[in-house]
Amino acid sequence: MRVYDSLVDLMGNTPLVRLHKVTAGVPAQVVAKVEYFNPGGSVKDRIAARMIEAAEASGELRPGGVIVEPTSGNTGVGLAIVAQQKGYRCLFVVPDKVAQDKISVLRAYGAEVVVCPTAVSPDHPDSYYSVSDRLAREVPNAWKPNQYTNVNNPDSHYHSTGPEIWEQTDGRITHFVAGIGTGGTISGTGRYLKEVSDGRVKIIGADPEGSVYSGGSGRPYLVEGVGEDIWPATYDTKICDEVIAVTDKESFTMTRRLAREEGLLVGGSCGMAVVAALRVAATAGPDDMIVVLLPDGGRGYLSKIFNDDWMADYGFLRAPSEEAVVGDVL
Ligand code: PMP
Repeated sequence: MRVYDSLVDLMGNTPLVRLHKVTAGVPAQVVAKVEYFNPGGSVKDRIAARMIEAAEASGELRPGGVIVEPTSGNTGVGLAIVAQQKGYRCLFVVPDKVAQDKISVLRAYGAEVVVCPTAVSPDHPDSYYSVSDRLAREVPNAWKPNQYTNVNNPDSHYHSTGPEIWEQTDGRITHFVAGIGTGGTISGTGRYLKEVSDGRVKIIGADPEGSVYSGGSGRPYLVEGVGEDIWPATYDTKICDEVIAVTDKESFTMTRRLAREEGLLVGGSCGMAVVAALRVAATAGPDDMIVVLLPDGGRGYLSKIFNDDWMADYGFLRAPSEEAVVGDVL
């Protein structure tokens, strides 16, 4: 019988898919690690499973415990699935720029969600960092995974995402490109790939223009799940060979092209990562293989990125003829 005991057993082992259309004219191969194949629909299932298992092992999370976390949605989904299977309650804190659809998904899994303003500094009492700290202190039996400081966040990628990519490419990967949010994906995957290749694999971060990783001050941007206004402990500053800044307009235009031209209905941080990957590919050789990680699916963004009115309101929509120009983001 081929029956999985739990959805948790299906987390990780996502496929690599070659990009064909958006890469036209580019000499190197570009392949996408499609993380929406995870049961919770995003890369964050990986960290959820490992953080909860480690907290159970250390005794920080006990039966009847409440998981309290600031999350832009995806980590919440992963945590909610694992927690539900193991009998824990979830209480999540999200910034108000997060799509309503994502909040509804968290509630559908049975989690409780508190929404906080985006336009306040991280140390403001209403910021989503502060509110989650307060809840973690005040709610009895609370445990805060803290994906921004938890070593099991990057470690989950060191032990799963990195080895998977190395095996799937038979060690032929030359560049790894991923967006940076907590930095867990790029730090853990990047550390593994550097170690296993003796430093041969280049690690490139993709960052929303204005975020600190690419030299900005944390100015607000619209792409979700990536970029920071603080430097989290989970980001290893020694891993990236380069960090490429991408504008919201470039990110969202590419996100729409991925759905229309590659059949990949993915989120805005995926478009952002692909823009960076294409910049790398434009200067790479024909033997190079660039792996770009696509963190989540696009269903949570239908009312934003895939909505023409929303795109037009922000001046992101371009004439259809212009959108079809191959390689126009390079
Ligand atoms: N994209 C999306 C949609 C995300 O939710 C996240 C996680 N915050 C990332 C990218 C970045 O991943 P990481 O936190 O591992 O840097």
